[in-house]
Amino acid sequence: MIAPTQQAVAPAPRTLPDHISPSAAKSYLSCSLRFFFERVLRLPAPVSPSLHLGKAIHAGLQAFHLARWRGGNDSPEMLAGVFEVEFQRLEQEEGPVSWRDDKARTKAREDGLRVLAAYLDSGEAPTERPKAVEVPLDQKLDGLPVPLGGVIDLVTHDGVPVDFKSAAARPDPKQAAFDHEIQLVSYQLLVEGATGETPPSLDLVFLVKTKTPQVIRVSTPPADIARKSRVVGLLRLAVEGIAEGRFHPQPGMHCSWCPFRAECAAWPHGIRVAA
Ligand code: SF4
Repeated sequence: MIAPTQQAVAPAPRTLPDHISPSAAKSYLSCSLRFFFERVLRLPAPVSPSLHLGKAIHAGLQAFHLARWRGGNDSPEMLAGVFEVEFQRLEQEEGPVSWRDDKARTKAREDGLRVLAAYLDSGEAPTERPKAVEVPLDQKLDGLPVPLGGVIDLVTHDGVPVDFKSAAARPDPKQAAFDHEIQLVSYQLLVEGATGETPPSLDLVFLVKTKTPQVIRVSTPPADIARKSRVVGLLRLAVEGIAEGRFHPQPGMHCSWCPFRAECAAWPHGIRVAA
């Protein structure tokens, strides 16, 4: 738990972050105080089972896409092996994971293996060599005081940036595209900056952990000027808020899975904290 200190109460100098990523901006805009606990103070918190599983699935997908890119072993056995190793490694190195019990852990492990197998069978896995896998990009943009930075899971052979999500239920495509607009448009801006070409679409692929796993692609058209400027405006709001130390509670449904409720309840109104 944090206690306000003299240093914390003093007006914060304006300190710009090095860059802004779409995930940091989304996190800041969802709840700036949670962002502060998680990304500025880096308070320890138990890892949620869904976050843990999502990371292990992501590691399996990354190994598979890299194998497609390099022309290496892209077999289902390789993918399942990477997932199993990462599932254990992340538990040891980034845990503890807040499993309800051993049964929940076993189910999560099996869910991960099933959704990855479903992805390979789904027709959504790239058949041609991707342009890039896990590519870190950054880009200076008009109207944004620091560079936009991000790591794109996959850029397909025809230049489509793809982000993978694991989900417990089938997503509503319109809602999913709306929820992830900052990320999708940021990826477009990064791809355009790196290649000079506009992607034909901006894609999300959901790996859904239902009893029968589902793989759902949500494609949105590339953003026009209005969508881009809205997203750059949101990114700028996040940068300015972080730079000025504006961190405050923004209660909502997301509080149900926030690990910092005790710290939030002790939040002292009116202070600004240097990031
Ligand atoms: S409990 Fe809710 S308002 Fe408080 S920090 Fe967490 S997400 Fe933000």
